[in-house]
Amino acid sequence: MEKKRTIHILPEKLINKIAAGEVIDRPASVLKELVENSIDAGAKQITIIVKGGGSALIQVIDDGCGMSEDDAILSLQRHATSKIHSYADIEAIRTLGFRGEALASIAAVSRMELKTILQGEIEGTAVYVEGGVVQRVDHTGGNPGTNIAVKNLFFNTPARRKFLRAEATEYRYILGMLNRFTLAFPEIAFRLIHDDKEVFNLVPASLLERIGEVLGSRVRHNLLEINDQHGSIKISGFIGNYDLMRKSRNDQYLFLNRRYINDRTLSYAATSGFGDQIAKGLYPIFIIFLEIDPERVDVNVHPTKNEVKFADARLLYDLVRNAVKRALRTDEIIPEMQKLYPPHWRPATPPSSPTPVPSSSQQTVLPWADEEPSDALIIPSEADAETPSAITLDKYETTQAEMANVWQLQKKYIVAQIKSGLVVIDQHVAHERILYERAKKNFTASQGASQQLLFPQTVELSAQDYQYLEQILPLLEKIGFVIKRFGGRTVVVEGVPAGIRIGSEDKLLLDILDSYRENQEADVDVQERVAKSFACRSAIMAGESLSLPAMNALIDQLFATENPYFCPHGRPIMVTISVEEIDRRFERK
Ligand code: ADP
Ligand code: MG
Repeated sequence: MEKKRTIHILPEKLINKIAAGEVIDRPASVLKELVENSIDAGAKQITIIVKGGGSALIQVIDDGCGMSEDDAILSLQRHATSKIHSYADIEAIRTLGFRGEALASIAAVSRMELKTILQGEIEGTAVYVEGGVVQRVDHTGGNPGTNIAVKNLFFNTPARRKFLRAEATEYRYILGMLNRFTLAFPEIAFRLIHDDKEVFNLVPASLLERIGEVLGSRVRHNLLEINDQHGSIKISGFIGNYDLMRKSRNDQYLFLNRRYINDRTLSYAATSGFGDQIAKGLYPIFIIFLEIDPERVDVNVHPTKNEVKFADARLLYDLVRNAVKRALRTDEIIPEMQKLYPPHWRPATPPSSPTPVPSSSQQTVLPWADEEPSDALIIPSEADAETPSAITLDKYETTQAEMANVWQLQKKYIVAQIKSGLVVIDQHVAHERILYERAKKNFTASQGASQQLLFPQTVELSAQDYQYLEQILPLLEKIGFVIKRFGGRTVVVEGVPAGIRIGSEDKLLLDILDSYRENQEADVDVQERVAKSFACRSAIMAGESLSLPAMNALIDQLFATENPYFCPHGRPIMVTISVEEIDRRFERK
């Protein structure tokens, strides 16, 4: 039997329930809509009460303008709004809401109590709604403002209820949502009570103070300020310095006219302002505010209004990127380190032949503390004959006074004083960065200098390693290795790059081949792989003690690299500890 098809318009109640699915998908989105309304109502103090991860109760109490009885009832209707009158108003929108569907949607899928008292009055209205149907309207007394309690969310939409995650998870979403508001509106006081316990009570503050409260004092003390303007577009806020890199994008906040937005392109613009050297898998923290003429933005592309369209997308991209770049340039660490710890390597007496005369501060050799000078005969490579770059320590006299104030910690770290506090440098990764950049330069620009071994080392390689060596030998030679074939699978290492410690060259070659093989999957680029393997295996290790001159040279060279913050594998090279942080630890105010 053919099924009879009839079309009918759905009842209003059902429409609201269906529509609710678009804006209200979890407790955090209820909270978002309620808090937005409070902010739009001009609230100065917003209290949020949550129970059971939000599915038992979400309550938002504000001291905003309040509503009249008629408005309170009308506000629960779909498409009821006080914020726009015509389409043109959307184009100049200054409020967070304007679609007039949030309260109707929330009311449709919960039991809601709305109490509201107009400013200046002591009595107002209470409306009780269940599944979108008004049950009762009453009078209520209290402070001016609006108090909306949403109970038993999704009680009448079992399918949606099933999609809710564990309470703890939903609560995390709520906290994440609240971060956006508390950061975007530091002048508003926010208080959160979860399961009868106060979680925070934020007083009106400056943006910086608020960031400290919300993201922690470590974040607060590692921020760089952004402040730029281009025509009517303003960009302001803070970015985290290199010490604050995160493994996720969670702490990237972008606000457009104080509305949190999700914009991959602009987030990328901010990240790219840090340069292409930022390690893979790490993300900067930022709290960026864009102020743009509302007419140049379309906020009506998504029901939750988290996504927007810009008329000047390309311009904005450049603005954000450049603002971040400019802010980073004010990061004092690099210029300060270069100033405080200038190159110390000035010849006291002219070095005797054949040691080349160092000609610039860009020395590439670390003077080893306990190096036996006679072990190595330093020879300039042909390419470097004119501007030799290899030196040994014994040819120079450096007085203690000339040395910067640095010391070694646990034979692992170099500690130095900077204006803002302390910098702690990991000696291994720092040296790795120096050698890596040098190797890359040797591949393309200049042949690396060699130090010839007094006692060449013979190494017998496995068939596989021999094959690898054949592949990368030209690159190793560019870095400064001198390796000769001896017959069969035996090779002789006659020279190694200048600046690395002499001794166990046979082991070094095997190590590099090992690492080259291990990195096969991570890096397809052969040069990249050779540079990393060489840098990692030749760099000084943790556990090696360094002389004062060696530490100074390491610092010099590190801060002459393109990216002194991260090693080629993405590990941080240095950590700064501010005086404020130390003061705090000592409970000094
Ligand atoms: P929208 O915010 O898009 O206008 P809503 O459904 O969220 O739509 O709210 C409907 C209307 O109810 C708002 O336009 C506003 O006039 C009123 N309203 C909602 N919440 C509050 C509040 N906390 N204080 C004062 N008025 C409110
Ligand atoms: Mg709203």
